[in-house]
Amino acid sequence: MEEVTPMGPTETPDLPMIPFNRPALEGRELDYVRESMLSGHQSSGGEFGRKAMAILAEETGAEDVLLTTSCTSALELSAMLLDLGPDDTVIVPSFTFTTSALAFARQGARLLFCDIEPHTLGIDAEHLASLIDDSVKAVVVVHYAGIACDLEGVQKVLADHPGVTLVEDNAHSLFGTWRDRPLGSYGRFAAQSFHDTKNFICGEGGALLLNEARDVDRARVLYDKGTNRRAFLLGQVDKYSWKDTGSSFGLSDVLAAYLLAQLEQREVIQAKRKAVWDRYHEALAPYADEHGFTIMETPAERTSAYHMFYVLLDSHERRNAVLGSLREGGVQATFHYVPLHSSDAGRMFALRETACPVTDDVSGRLLRLPFYNNLSGEDADRVVETFLASLSASAPV
Ligand SMILES: *Cc1c(COP(=O)(O)O)cnc(C)c1O
Repeated sequence: MEEVTPMGPTETPDLPMIPFNRPALEGRELDYVRESMLSGHQSSGGEFGRKAMAILAEETGAEDVLLTTSCTSALELSAMLLDLGPDDTVIVPSFTFTTSALAFARQGARLLFCDIEPHTLGIDAEHLASLIDDSVKAVVVVHYAGIACDLEGVQKVLADHPGVTLVEDNAHSLFGTWRDRPLGSYGRFAAQSFHDTKNFICGEGGALLLNEARDVDRARVLYDKGTNRRAFLLGQVDKYSWKDTGSSFGLSDVLAAYLLAQLEQREVIQAKRKAVWDRYHEALAPYADEHGFTIMETPAERTSAYHMFYVLLDSHERRNAVLGSLREGGVQATFHYVPLHSSDAGRMFALRETACPVTDDVSGRLLRLPFYNNLSGEDADRVVETFLASLSASAPV
């Protein structure tokens, strides 16, 4: 007998929800994790970690790479290496994840929140120039969505302040480039994330890229619980002991095994993400003017790391209405970021209040569409259709 589902005249069968993100295995993850668990070496500093670090060092040109438990802990390690104190200031964009700022506040520095420029959503070099002074020890930049911030402008500002360290929060932008050079290679330090919402994943994980040889020895000590264990393992000293401050930053080799399998598939993963990005861009661009939204673009001299796809709607109210009707239509879209400069902790850790009007504006109008390696063309088209229908439904009268 045929099964009949009762359905009213206007109802359609529920389509499965399209999630915002869906972490995926792309290669030999399960084999490597199994191998690592049976290898007799599960802590950090194992064979899988060494291979993953070698790929990252080769691809970015870093002097050394330390795999960490998260991007947050990589940023914390960079803050420790800067020996920050209460008289020091670190400039961070207001439009970023909390830990781009938290890592430096935790080491005792005061923060100055910088605004972003509207077309890359990266740090605004003009505002940066107006904030920088002798108390500033570091500037943190984010290459939002995988697209380089205004590195030219930032470099010009820093050229007049040679004592200021550039730190790249490269969580979105591994394998993106500016002027054909990898993002993550411009700062003295760059922090990567392998959280399961990022392009390359291992559950939770990160890495600190060290781009200057002078930091390598001390970074290894801070990384390894304040000891010179690494030098001991390399046969450079005959015993190891407590040398400095530090913490337990190392990524388990079981997770490094997961990460290695992902990194081995880097071309496949990036090609899949590019295909999703291109499909959204092509399908949405013709409707942008008519519906009053702005579509993200990749400016000149950059290649994207394809971390996400976002659009800017014409008002905060409309963004929220569209988010709501997308959810009703089975599409999980989301917003980004809640500004840091006006947050409770941001106010607490800031040296002084700063105005970030572009951050306030963009944060209220930005909408991120579902974006993951294996989002099918069919599902991407459904996202586009649902998005355009939601826009029409929420059009101001
Ligand atoms: C995800 C993210 C982080 C934090 O990464 P974790 O690995 O979860 O610590 C930091 N900064 C930015 C810009 C991020 O997107």
